[in-house]
Amino acid sequence: MKRLAIVLSIIIFCLIGGFTFSENNQHSASAGAEARYEDVVEEKVDVVEESIDAEEIQEEIQEEIQEEIQDHEETDTNMNNTIEESESVNKKSEEKASSNDDHTSSKKVFLTFDDGPTTLTPEILRILNENNVQATFFVIGRLAEENPDLIKRTYLEGNMILPHSHTHDYAIYSTFETFYEDFYKVEETLNNILGIEVPPVFRFPGGSSNQSSFKYGGKQFMPRLTEDVKEKGYYYIDWNVSSGDAGSDYNNKTKMVENVINGANNKDFIVVLFHDVSRNTRVAEILPEIITSFKEKGYEFRTFRDITEEELDKMVQLKLANKPIIR
Ligand SMILES: [Zn+2]
Repeated sequence: MKRLAIVLSIIIFCLIGGFTFSENNQHSASAGAEARYEDVVEEKVDVVEESIDAEEIQEEIQEEIQEEIQDHEETDTNMNNTIEESESVNKKSEEKASSNDDHTSSKKVFLTFDDGPTTLTPEILRILNENNVQATFFVIGRLAEENPDLIKRTYLEGNMILPHSHTHDYAIYSTFETFYEDFYKVEETLNNILGIEVPPVFRFPGGSSNQSSFKYGGKQFMPRLTEDVKEKGYYYIDWNVSSGDAGSDYNNKTKMVENVINGANNKDFIVVLFHDVSRNTRVAEILPEIITSFKEKGYEFRTFRDITEEELDKMVQLKLANKPIIR
């Protein structure tokens, strides 16, 4: 009996111990499972949080875009709105663009249009927009006064507006006084229309080495005037590729395309000269082909609106800006 009791005790002890052991085992197994489950849950939470973050960011971006579109619609429909408003819009989009675009591309092209605004300008703007590129317009103050909305629109669409001349009459090259009187007039006109202070960058009528000045101020007039404007802190801009649209080629599409394509050959840094004068409808017709050609060759389209100091230095180096006139 006593033996039986001992045996029973041993069996009971073993059973209890076994239970406890298996319970522990189960517990630790379940703890492992729980740990794994927690990991999985945490991972899932992370994933969910990430997707919430992404969703939130996406929503934020969409809201911002919506706001910008509204801002643009407002400025487009009401040209009397101040430029300051759109400046912030432009800054925003510039900030966005700057993350993908640090202007380090080795090939750059600046499209420039002189002597506008005219009836051709809206067509040029349409083509630039369609091709998602911007340009610089060296405008005539007298025409800007007659078409302030077109000046604003050109600027609002991301292009640059800079002074060329108020009258574009070569008699401005008679004396320093006649030159600066005309120049300050166009500068002031643009400042008033755009509500900004345009930077000290312009293009001389006929370019810095023009000969039209000879009969007014004499041969030494441009060498002296160019030095004077430099001392005043201005940059005058010329070009290294001309479409030939100011001369007899203005009606010859093949010739103008050739002028630009051949002129650009072996050049990595280009300022192209066009004129958005009303007779130049053929310039508008060849513009898409020219833009496509530069795109295919890997050029980055740049304007004087956000030109970097490095780019301006390069222009001086290449004598595209502040070219010394020696006669
Ligand atoms: Zn001109």
